[in-house]
Amino acid sequence: MSEREIIRIENLNKSFGSLHVLKDINVSIYESEVMCLVGSSGSGKSTLLRCLNFLEKKDNGKIFIKGEEITPKTHNINNVRQKVGMVFQHFNLFPHKTVLQNIIEAPTKVKKISKSEAVEEAEKLLKKVGLEDKADVYPSKLSGGQKQRVAIARALAMKPNIMLFDEPTSALDPELVGEVLETMKELADEGMTMVVVTHEMGFASEVADSIIFMDEGRIIERNKPMKFFNSPKEARTKEFLKATM
Ligand code: ADP
Ligand code: MG
Repeated sequence: MSEREIIRIENLNKSFGSLHVLKDINVSIYESEVMCLVGSSGSGKSTLLRCLNFLEKKDNGKIFIKGEEITPKTHNINNVRQKVGMVFQHFNLFPHKTVLQNIIEAPTKVKKISKSEAVEEAEKLLKKVGLEDKADVYPSKLSGGQKQRVAIARALAMKPNIMLFDEPTSALDPELVGEVLETMKELADEGMTMVVVTHEMGFASEVADSIIFMDEGRIIERNKPMKFFNSPKEARTKEFLKATM
């Protein structure tokens, strides 16, 4: 793993009204690193991802992408989303667009890539996620696992520096979880930098380079999977693992 920093977060804080959801978050993510973010519901994992791609506005603190600070003044939301791809629990595909149209939407509208180039790239991405025969199908005709793989292809079409996944398999029937995790594992093997919020501890232990445990808005522990699962340092991590595994 190279040591090039892709994202650095410094002293990030976020509140919703009087609820202090992210408390002094400091974390760096390096090129080709797969970081899994775990913690109980309400600990602030989604809010952290959402602050990273400007879906939520942070209260204070700094976010750098490849050493460059990103603020609403220097980057509009489209700039940030070209750098940071995101995959959600509920896919968020455009229902009235075909699979292919979903994938070429942002590259043609936001990045102003020609349609023919965007289609060529989309076809490559569909092949990569194993859905080359679904280009002209509407999302409603796909299984949840297929929808999520389209969502991954759509995020990749912007050629982001990093991919964020927020519980990408939590809404899936159990038998469809594996195909999505497999696609994510292939991405990781290709060197994509990824932050993955997940309850899939098997995936985390197999694929992650590092695991972060969050509790009540703070990062409690960061460690390599072996150490994280076998010899957690903090009492709260131990409790969490006991409850989950
Ligand atoms: P996690 O993803 O770890 O389950 P979240 O980041 O979704 O946690 O939520 C952290 C806390 O912030 C929770 O208490 C949640 O209810 C609250 N929260 C999240 N989004 C909002 C919002 N838009 N408005 C008010 N409270 C929110
Ligand atoms: Mg969440």
